[in-house]
Amino acid sequence: MNRLNSVATRMGPDLRDAIEAMPGLGGVALWVKFLDSDNPELIACTDGVHVEAGPRYEKYGDAERRFIVLHELLHVALAHPAREREMERRTEDFDARLYNIACDAIINAALDGARGVHTPDGAVTLGELLAPLGYWKKEDHPAEIVRQWSSEALYHLLAKNRERVDLRAFDSNAGITGKDLAPAMGASHPAGDNSNEDEIRAWSSRLKMARGSLAGIFNRLVRIEPIAYSFRILISAAVARTGAPADDTTPLGPQGMV
Ligand SMILES: [Zn+2]
Repeated sequence: MNRLNSVATRMGPDLRDAIEAMPGLGGVALWVKFLDSDNPELIACTDGVHVEAGPRYEKYGDAERRFIVLHELLHVALAHPAREREMERRTEDFDARLYNIACDAIINAALDGARGVHTPDGAVTLGELLAPLGYWKKEDHPAEIVRQWSSEALYHLLAKNRERVDLRAFDSNAGITGKDLAPAMGASHPAGDNSNEDEIRAWSSRLKMARGSLAGIFNRLVRIEPIAYSFRILISAAVARTGAPADDTTPLGPQGMV
C-alpha cells in the first residue's frame, strides 16, 4: 500500500484512511491513476481508469471525502464507465445521467453504514428511487436490497417510470449525484468495439480474485460469478436491439453484478 502514500493529488492524503475503512479497495486503488482538475464545478469523477478530484472535493469534511474516494473506487471496480459505454451503444435514447444516478444509488447503498465515512448531502439513496415505484418497503435495509439490483436493471426500471421519480431533485449544482461518470480521460482507452467488453471482463476477474479481501462490501454486491453476468448484459442488450421483448427490470436476485 506504500504506493498509495505517495499519491500527490487532492485525494492523496485521504487514500490511506479511506482504504482503512474498506481495506479490500486497496487493491483497486493500485489500478487507478489519480488526477486533479481545475474545473470549479467538479467534486470528483472517473472514467474507469482515472479518478479525478476537483476543487469542490476539498470543501467536504474528512469522513465525507473518504466516502467520495470509496464511491469513485467502487465505480472503477464495478466497471461502471465501461458498462455505461456499452449501454449507450446498445440502448435506444440512452440517458447517461440516469444511468449515472442508478450506479450512484447502488454504490451509496453499498457504502451505507461503512465505518469512518459519512454520506454527503445530496447523495442519492436507493430507497428514494425505489420507494415511489413500490420496490422499497419502510423496513427494507439498503445492504439487503442492493444485492437484488444491477445498475442496468435499475436504469431500465427508472427509464420506464421516469415521471414517477423526482429526478429534478438531483439537478442542483451543489449536488453530488448523477455527474461523476466521465468520458475517457487521456489516451488510455483503446478504440474498438471490444474494448468495453474487455474492460468489464478484466474488472470481473480482478474482483473475483479480490473477493476474499473485499468481504465487507462485495459480499453485499456480488453474489455470483460476475463474468457470467457481463455476458448476460450483452445478450439481453442484443435481444433489446433486435426488438424482441427484453424486460430487464426484474431484480436479478442472487445473480447480479451491480
Ligand atoms: Zn458516482
